[in-house]
Order: sequence, then structure tokens, then C-alpha cells
Amino acid sequence: MLYDLAATAAELAAVQIALAILPIGAIEQHSQHLPIGTDWLSIQALARRVGELCTEWGDVYLLPALPYSLSQCHGPGLGNVWLRPETLAAVLRDVVLSLKREGIHRIAVLNGHGGNFVLDAEIRELNASHPELVVLNVTSRGFRRGGGSQDIHAGAGETSRMLALHPELVHGPPPDYIPAGLGPEFLDYAYMAQISPTGIWGSPSEASAQAGAKALEEAAQRLAQRIRHAFEEIERQRAQ
Ligand SMILES: [Zn+2]
Repeated sequence: MLYDLAATAAELAAVQIALAILPIGAIEQHSQHLPIGTDWLSIQALARRVGELCTEWGDVYLLPALPYSLSQCHGPGLGNVWLRPETLAAVLRDVVLSLKREGIHRIAVLNGHGGNFVLDAEIRELNASHPELVVLNVTSRGFRRGGGSQDIHAGAGETSRMLALHPELVHGPPPDYIPAGLGPEFLDYAYMAQISPTGIWGSPSEASAQAGAKALEEAAQRLAQRIRHAFEEIERQRAQ
């Protein structure tokens, strides 16, 4: 079964949760055509589908997506909200350790925002200092994207997914924009607004609801399998 916040404590206590899923969203500008909650809405939906698929091998506790993470690269802009890296690491640690206290030791983090570099460092530390825990981030660089290496932000991938999930929230996009010769590492230096006048890095003109639905389902299948195989491998290693 998939348990979310609609479950009662008694319902959760009556089962053995095999896996908790913690999605990480972000709140930041997505140009003029997508809502600031795009990353949060997308990862929430993807995590639910991954959770459904994972119930094939056990009961799953789906946590709500954390709305905030590391959106500093978008800089000043109405609606942008971010945590400092150390705050995000501390929130992750506290959530994981509170799950551990309740006997939930397998936790999959689903990261919906590409810039959350601090997650892997904190997850490695959690795994190293709590041997009974297994925390996996199967989406280190965000679960991406489907539109190729220049589909960085508010482009074909994100716009397609939102057309599939919440078409009522998608407006007509401004023109495609790809900064010549730059890679996403440039966002460690400059704000998005200094790189792209519209906040787009990609080609939203190529988006479609059909492509979004297909990409979401393929990502969910792939991630559920990755999670399953990782836990099987860990069991195998521990049995040796
Ligand atoms: Zn986004």
C-alpha cells in the first residue's frame, strides 16, 4: 500500500513500512509561462507514481515534497524562496533521523531541482554515521528532463511535464532562449536573469502534453527500478 498524509498513525503502526520517499521541490521563477511551484508540483507527482510502483515489493510511506531548496541561482526575483545549503542539509538530516527513530530505515530521496548539490554530501554522511540506515538519492542531478543538455530551465522538459500535469497553469511561453556556448555550471557564477532575459534556458516551443506524460512515466519506471535494485544489492552485500 501507498501511505501518505491521509493515513492515520494507527494505520501506519499496523504495517511494516519498507520504504519512505522524500521528494525535494523548489520555489523559483519559471519564466512567464509556468508557475513558481513548477518543481514542487512536478516532483510531487513523480514521487507519487514512483511510490505506487514501489508498492509491488512493500508498503511505502510517501512524504510531502519539501517546497524549498537551493534556488540561489535565480537571485532576486519576486516569488523566489530558498534555503541556505546548511539549512537544507539540516532539514534532510532531521527528517531522515525522525523516520529512523520510528523504525523506517530505507529512504529514497527524489530531487526535483538540479542545483541541490548539498544533498549527496549529507546523505553520504547519514549513511556513514548510521549503519542501519540506507538513504539513496537516485536523482542526484534532478530527475530531468528529456529535452537534451540545453534543456536547463523552463524549457521543453518542464513545460511538457506541466502541460501533462496541470495544463490550466501553463501560459503561452516567451521565445526559446539558449545562451550561446554556456553550460549549466555558469549558474554557479551568474544569476539566471543575467544569463537569460526571460528566465528560460531551453526550448519551451517544443513542449507537448504527450511528451510530458511519456517522460514522467518513463522516469517513474526507471527510478522505481533503480530503487528496487539498489536495495536488493544492499541486502545481498549485507548478507555476505
Ligand atoms: Zn524547474
